[in-house]
Amino acid sequence: MENETILVTRSSMPDLDEYVQEIACLWDTHWLTNMGEKHVQFEADLKKYLQVENLALFTNGHNALECVIEAMGLSGKVITTPYTFASTTHAVVRKGLTPVFADVKPEDYTLNPASVERLIDEDTCAILPVHVYGNLCDVDAFEALGRKYNLKVIYDAAHAFGVSRHGVSSASFGDASMFSFHATKVFNTVEGGAVCFADPALKDVLNQWKNFGITGTESVEYVGGNAKMNELCAAMGICNLRHLDAEIAKRKVVYERYMSHLQGVPGITLPAAQPGVQSNYSYYPVVFEDDFGATRDDVYAALMALDIHPRKYFYPLVSEYECYQGRFNPADTPVAKHVADRVLTLPLYADLALEQVDRICSVVLGCGKEA
Ligand SMILES: *Cc1c(COP(=O)(O)O)cnc(C)c1O
Repeated sequence: MENETILVTRSSMPDLDEYVQEIACLWDTHWLTNMGEKHVQFEADLKKYLQVENLALFTNGHNALECVIEAMGLSGKVITTPYTFASTTHAVVRKGLTPVFADVKPEDYTLNPASVERLIDEDTCAILPVHVYGNLCDVDAFEALGRKYNLKVIYDAAHAFGVSRHGVSSASFGDASMFSFHATKVFNTVEGGAVCFADPALKDVLNQWKNFGITGTESVEYVGGNAKMNELCAAMGICNLRHLDAEIAKRKVVYERYMSHLQGVPGITLPAAQPGVQSNYSYYPVVFEDDFGATRDDVYAALMALDIHPRKYFYPLVSEYECYQGRFNPADTPVAKHVADRVLTLPLYADLALEQVDRICSVVLGCGKEA
């Protein structure tokens, strides 16, 4: 136990027997993909869980995001955040749109609506905020901006599955929200993703875009790609969804153990709880400020030396990626730059032992000047 490797996350999995029982019927039907019975059932289960009317499943979150951008027929500039995973910006660029980076808020690292509004011009078609670490964006402000300037609001909700505000699901904000069911996320289908959306007319279009643009047995109307979730992944989702609330409850215990050690420590900034928001405890980000007595990289090295694997997530900023060299200036988003240079997400998963959390925290605190 003492010396075992601790990775930043560990995928939740159902009991093998439960999964085998779920997929057994596929050996009768030999129907493995193309919206089979597991796909149909999983979509219905998810709509219920997320309290939404409109949802489409995908191979992964990234393809879901590309598909919804495509299905909405967007062109021009998209205002988004550099404090995110590669996928958010790459989807914009790969669909031929131009990303414009606004800054984030220091409290929760989500996109700052005031910073967004300053950047809106006649070429802007959409705002693409990210619910970072499961912290909800200022959804009311983005709704108002969308209405005022006639812009689409698409959320990257990859971190926010199972999050709600005053009982309202994170899936119900904006024109669309993308979820990722990647193995490393709170809820997984091995690989997978979904889009929830407001306009029911998008359903057929999304289903067609994810299936080569095929609109009928003898008609192909769009140059679509292939992004259909298969039956084995849908079955994994059906099983994992049954246990999700229990998994989130276990994460909460781990999260609170971290809080008990790290809250109030000088030089450490932790995300503030958002009023009225039910969290999914997806990540435990720690920002090491300059007065902590050790840098983020010092803490990272100390943990790695003990075979404990935190992640510099999100670092570097997307605006600093080699592939975007010369296109953006990270100094334009000083809050995002400050956080990216100092953040470390500590290991967090449902089955992480509390004694391991204690051990991780003692290493972290041992790096600081208070030690
Ligand atoms: C995981 C993730 C994605 C991409 O999801 P995939 O399912 O891996 O394609 C996009 N955005 C954010 C913020 C993510 O964390």
